[in-house]
Amino acid sequence: MQLALEQARLAAAEGEVPVGAVVVKDGQLVSTGRNAPIGGQDPTAHAEVQALRAAAQSLGNYRLDGCTLYVTLEPCAMCSGAMLHARLARVVFGAADAKTGAAGGLLNLFAQPGLNHQTGVTGGVLASECAALLQAFFRPRRLNVRPLREDALRTPPSRFDGLDDPSLRDFQVQVSQLPALAGLNMHVLDTGPAPGPTVMVLHGLWGWGWEAEALATELMQLGVRAVVPDLPGFGRSDKPKKPGFHTLAWHTRCLQELGAHLGLARATVLVPQVPQTVALAVALCQAAPGHFDRVVAWSPAAAEGNACPGLDAPFPDVGHRAAQRAFALWDVSAGIAQGSPNAFPVHHISGVGGQLGGCAGTVWAQWSGGYAVGETKASSDCPDNRVFNDAALARHLLALVHHREVDS
Ligand SMILES: [Zn+2]
Repeated sequence: MQLALEQARLAAAEGEVPVGAVVVKDGQLVSTGRNAPIGGQDPTAHAEVQALRAAAQSLGNYRLDGCTLYVTLEPCAMCSGAMLHARLARVVFGAADAKTGAAGGLLNLFAQPGLNHQTGVTGGVLASECAALLQAFFRPRRLNVRPLREDALRTPPSRFDGLDDPSLRDFQVQVSQLPALAGLNMHVLDTGPAPGPTVMVLHGLWGWGWEAEALATELMQLGVRAVVPDLPGFGRSDKPKKPGFHTLAWHTRCLQELGAHLGLARATVLVPQVPQTVALAVALCQAAPGHFDRVVAWSPAAAEGNACPGLDAPFPDVGHRAAQRAFALWDVSAGIAQGSPNAFPVHHISGVGGQLGGCAGTVWAQWSGGYAVGETKASSDCPDNRVFNDAALARHLLALVHHREVDS
């Protein structure tokens, strides 16, 4: 059961409901399996089915006579059926499941006297440990804020007073359970599952996720899921003090694990068109093509770094700017070179003009300052093909994603 628990922890790290299973025969480990329906886009990819499949492959036989399956959660009807088909000798489970358990929790498929094969059932082995893993996973994420690591800074909450859009408060979450974060808190605005596609909005070197709040609202109203992380070192996320922490590879891994944790599928990554953020988005699509498969880069007419109280809020002093210093030194040429249209589409929305200039409250507000569509299709929302605001940008993004097959 300890081995099954190990599999369950791996599933949690991948953003899956933490259930793990192993198959054992004659005291020898035959196979392992862990829950993977989200990552595998497979409703049948329960830990038990994964372990049964691997065991049958390993033993060269679809019948698993004499085998015992250990699983951290009481099996459901599908998995119990698969075990009976496999003629499994015995199943040992940890936590009981009153909602979907088919080994006595909700119903008991193993107790049907008419079955031609009988599989023995033992429940409650390391039950509290197995249940604790599940409870930790489903605990509201905002409660998971961890104490600050010694080698990191956390901006005092008072710096953010009055900045938040209250209507987005319920969508602000702290994620700290990703392995790459190693206990750091990462702040994410996530509007949650939606009928439409998903857009992850990345901020630039001099900003943070707050820039994209208005855009996130617009996207949500169009049925698009908006995910806006503060990269580590920015915004409300913890800020490792050493610039050496902030490599392109590490930031890519953090976002990759975030995509898996949130169960994102084929999300579009929207980034300001500066080399570092484009390189990060490209690296992300390459590392996790199932979670991210398109980059849209927008180029602001005005340079980043405009003085603005809101944009500066997370950075009370130079010590909080280690990530910005490190990002500026990234060697991004390789990543961008690899971002050729052959690998996956990189779209550009070019900025021109920009009558607002300077600080308009947020960088994103500059969209309303007048931007033209670059290499992308003209949007019907912009009759003169020039003026963008957050609402028009959101609609344009949606049109772009829906036309992925046509224009890629
Ligand atoms: Zn199952």
